[in-house]
Amino acid sequence: MITVRNWRLDAACRTSDPDLFFPIGATGPAIAQIAEARQVCQECPVRTACLNWALRHDQGYGIWGGTTEEERRALRPTPASRQAERARMSELPCQQQRPRYLHRQWQADVS
Ligand code: SF4
Repeated sequence: MITVRNWRLDAACRTSDPDLFFPIGATGPAIAQIAEARQVCQECPVRTACLNWALRHDQGYGIWGGTTEEERRALRPTPASRQAERARMSELPCQQQRPRYLHRQWQADVS
């Protein structure tokens, strides 16, 4: 049996105030709040998993993986980049193509 450890168990923000990661806006006092949240993310061992999860689940609000919603919006694939990726993948031999679904949905909630 293979056990997959939930990345959330290792999150550096588990003991932080959750409000820190959900600033109101991106100006004024929110700038300092975003910087403080990013500092926590900077040291987080699961930052990549967190960011990937946020991108997959289209998290439109808050700091995830050290990124703001605006930064994540910029990371999302565009129709043109998706088409280019499909074209690139179609040129690879079958065994090197990515499976259709790379990621499992994280079912378990961390309490
Ligand atoms: S990257 Fe930031 S928001 Fe994501 S789990 Fe780590 S500390 Fe929390």
